[in-house]
Amino acid sequence: MEEPSALILRATKFAALKHRDQRRKDHVASPYIIHPVTVANELTQAGVTDPEVIAAALLHDTLEDTETAPAELAEVFGERVCSMVQELTDDKALPKQERKRLQIEHAPELSSGAALVKICDKIANVTDVTHSPPPDWSRERRMAYLDWAASVVAGCKVDNDQLKQRFVDVLARGRECI
Ligand code: NDP
Ligand code: ZN
Repeated sequence: MEEPSALILRATKFAALKHRDQRRKDHVASPYIIHPVTVANELTQAGVTDPEVIAAALLHDTLEDTETAPAELAEVFGERVCSMVQELTDDKALPKQERKRLQIEHAPELSSGAALVKICDKIANVTDVTHSPPPDWSRERRMAYLDWAASVVAGCKVDNDQLKQRFVDVLARGRECI
């Protein structure tokens, strides 16, 4: 059986390599890897210790945003990690608005592990939209993002009160600051 820290560091290295040429949309174009590491850190700060859930957080944008196939994730990290990342992956063939609508619709069906990663992803993105947003976004667009993120999180069955409260807090801070 692999040590938890070994799995987590393998996932960190895999994500860092896959996202190596990508940047976030903030004004300094931060290295993309900061985002999945932030999502994983939200989980562990809230007491989540399941190494496969932490690995799924680190890998959550690899299928959607990099040249990674589900079979590769399954082979390298196992079926459960792969399946959580697949649950967290939008169908890029669909129009943006439809993808956003489907995230709200599918939130109640997420597995417990994927729901934990989903709320941490929204905590991280609401924090980014509040403090380091894409520079071309209007105030209205930033506020609309917060409303949409809240609708997704409202449907997630998250078994962690600390994360639910953390989302409430970052959302309130966003609505005050933006
Ligand atoms: P996007 O989906 O284009 O961008 C948000 C996503 O980008 C986040 O969910 C996050 O995803 C990623 N991201 C990377 N860097 C940052 C950052 N610094 N801050 C926040 N997010 C970041 O935007 P929208 O959610 O607004 O959706 C686009 C839709 O909005 C389209 O349908 C478009 O037509 C519409 N639109 C709305 C406007 C408005 O004024 N309301 C104006 C223009 C378009 P991840 O975690 O996956 O990296
Ligand atoms: Zn993300």
